[in-house]
Amino acid sequence: MKKKIMFLLLVSMFSFSLFSEGTKEVTLSTETNSTKSVKNVILLVGDGMSVAQIATTDAFIGAQKGQYLSKLNFEDFNHQGLTSTYAGDRLITDSAAAGTALATGSKTYCGAISVDMNKNELKTILEYAQDKNKSTGIVTSTRVTHATPAVFLSKNIDRNAENEIAMDEAYSGVDFLAGGGYRYFVSKDNEKGLASKRTDGIDLIKEMEKAGYRSFISEEETIDFLNYKPKAGEKIVGLFSYSHLDYAIDDANQPTLAQMTDKALESLSYDNDGFFLMVEGGRIDHACHANDAVTAIEDTLAFEDAVQVAIDFYNKNPNDTLVIVTGDHETGGLTLGFAGTHYESAYEQLQNQKISYEKYGSQYFADYKKSHSISNCNLSDLENDLNYYFGLNNLNDEERTSLQNALKRSVAGEVITGTQESDYLLYGGYEPFIMEITHILNKRAGVAFTSYSHTAVPVATFAIGNGSEKVNGMFDNTDIFNFMLEAMDSTN
Ligand SMILES: [Zn+2]
Repeated sequence: MKKKIMFLLLVSMFSFSLFSEGTKEVTLSTETNSTKSVKNVILLVGDGMSVAQIATTDAFIGAQKGQYLSKLNFEDFNHQGLTSTYAGDRLITDSAAAGTALATGSKTYCGAISVDMNKNELKTILEYAQDKNKSTGIVTSTRVTHATPAVFLSKNIDRNAENEIAMDEAYSGVDFLAGGGYRYFVSKDNEKGLASKRTDGIDLIKEMEKAGYRSFISEEETIDFLNYKPKAGEKIVGLFSYSHLDYAIDDANQPTLAQMTDKALESLSYDNDGFFLMVEGGRIDHACHANDAVTAIEDTLAFEDAVQVAIDFYNKNPNDTLVIVTGDHETGGLTLGFAGTHYESAYEQLQNQKISYEKYGSQYFADYKKSHSISNCNLSDLENDLNYYFGLNNLNDEERTSLQNALKRSVAGEVITGTQESDYLLYGGYEPFIMEITHILNKRAGVAFTSYSHTAVPVATFAIGNGSEKVNGMFDNTDIFNFMLEAMDSTN
């Protein structure tokens, strides 16, 4: 057991030293006295982002530049470490337990929203910041009621109680809240006619407006939000989609993670007492669950853009700001290598994918499915799609066969031979045809996923600013809470 952990540690440390020369210029201000407290703490969490998600993105960008690896901006941070992520009740954590560890410093069971193993409420880093009269902000690309944002603003024994979580969030006193998921905030009879999942008739947006929030709700108000100049002391809520925001690769009419981060910093930095801001790149995880490497890479790059906004802020306020970048757990058991390609990699195979598995499924393949049956579905109907949307052409016989089989299963609504377990290993409960497309792309590139779930591989953590020197070596996700609290607490 110990040997295995050491091995992982060595592999990961080795990977840090393997980077080719950085091509993205990241200028970091020189740090000053590290015992000073910081006014501002910015925590950026890539959901499902571990060393492999970072390295795959490095390889993808590297391939575009004719080199093996490139480097994401936060890989240049001067303090780095590896972080264990286990939950209170399981080696492999979920986002709720992992988020609770980051937000409260406590281990808990999977599914818990900032309550402990005995379901007692825990105090969050955001509440500690509020105690110090700091402003607070939460930005995410998922529904704001999803586990990672929820643990900072809510206490609940069940991550799925999103109606209750939204209620907590509306009354949390948070100064800036942006992401997706208006469905738990607007009432069913709202004037804009937006779809709602609120079960109690209360319109939380109206309640928040009464409490002084300026609101931007639905994609329709994206431009207003982007053009808006935040005022000192004004609270802002922006919820730009019914559920999660779209994947970065799908280019929706929604603010990017970087744009929301920028607006958050503009708004929160009015506070002379400083602020706490958590930014989540929440859908790297979802793409990895679905084994869609390119979509995960594009969301990792969108996350990097948000980190750049934090770096720019840090460079203007180097003595006052701590920036920590981490992941909450690994998703998908992603790795850079595949038995079928032996030692070879071919990341150029991934360069021509234009949309996510999700968008292809809902906007293109759904229609085909509806209008075809097992007797008349044919792979040749969809080959143009495969080429155009995924850059998948020159199919060999094996690829053709597996795609045709998967297509039949999709069109049939998935009732074919094989035990359930073997079906799960093949498609993980996703649309068979679309999973086959991503699997073929992965195999061609030499990228592999071992799971449709999370894994216990440690995540990497990066930090700059006062207090960042504690981010060093191997530590636990609960320690990150302590690093942030100590940085806000320590006095001159
Ligand atoms: Zn997660």
